[in-house]
Amino acid sequence: MILIDGKATAAALKEEVRIKVLDAAARVGRAPHLAVIRVGEDPASVVYVRNKEKACDVTGIRNTTIVLPEETTEEALLAKVQELNRDPLVDGILVQLPLPRHISESKVIETIAMEKDVDGFHPLNVAGLWQKTPHVSPCTPKGIMKLLEVAGVDPKGKRAVVIGRSNIVGLPAAKMLLDANATVTMCHTRTANLADETRRAEILVVAAGKAKMITADMVSPGAVVIDVGMDRDPETGKLCGDVDFEGVAPKAYAITPVPGGVGPMTIACLMENTLECYLRRTEAR
Ligand code: NAD
Repeated sequence: MILIDGKATAAALKEEVRIKVLDAAARVGRAPHLAVIRVGEDPASVVYVRNKEKACDVTGIRNTTIVLPEETTEEALLAKVQELNRDPLVDGILVQLPLPRHISESKVIETIAMEKDVDGFHPLNVAGLWQKTPHVSPCTPKGIMKLLEVAGVDPKGKRAVVIGRSNIVGLPAAKMLLDANATVTMCHTRTANLADETRRAEILVVAAGKAKMITADMVSPGAVVIDVGMDRDPETGKLCGDVDFEGVAPKAYAITPVPGGVGPMTIACLMENTLECYLRRTEAR
């Protein structure tokens, strides 16, 4: 069984980004610049934003974190995003989700300039993914595809099953697998018999947000299992995935652990996206 090491793969990708940043900064005269906005003090968001700052430090990407109070109005947040859109020295803009309820996430996402949308959530970037035109790819699905590559798994001609159809993970992951020539089945809460579908999977991507929902009997021997879930084990309270790792790992050809699988790749891909946005902007001048 291959344990797909997301931590090591992410470290290698960040090192690649660091070298490219050094080289490009010498040419352009400045490093790429990522601006991150956090609204409020949601504990998970505080951790995610801190991890993004750390990854910027490692890769040599300049980081500005803007913290706004919970009661910030939608208007004020949109104005801040527009200010960053106009700033020629900002290459990437990320607004940490979730936002407080009184702010429309979709309005905020639509306001970020497409070319600075390092998360790849802007409708035009989403359209670009689906229409195969230039776009910024969303970080988590991009990380999933890189992990498959590292494990030596070519999706071409394989039966891939994706559980979850969110805009952030499931839907774009399914599209990327399709573009890599897998035959893709998408599952969700209305899927009549989930185990029937998962047992057919040669590549199983699970992004449901349900601790350990995929048990050994739901996986066929030799499957490649990518666990995107970031859940809490109801018994131990520890971080775990959507896959019952102990049960499934012995059956799998390859599997990602949680933590240390897809999670670190998401941030490494964010760094890569920031570099790509910066290169596109500075080389287009
Ligand atoms: P979401 O809640 O938006 O979507 C969950 C999807 O799973 C839905 O489409 C739903 O239909 C499906 N689903 C839920 N329960 C199911 C069930 N019992 N059977 C079949 N389908 C079911 O969540 P999301 O934002 O896509 O995130 C999914 C998981 O991935 C969460 O645990 C989240 O924390 C994690 N996540 C991890 C990363 C990372 O970097 N590792 C990034 C984003 C999300």
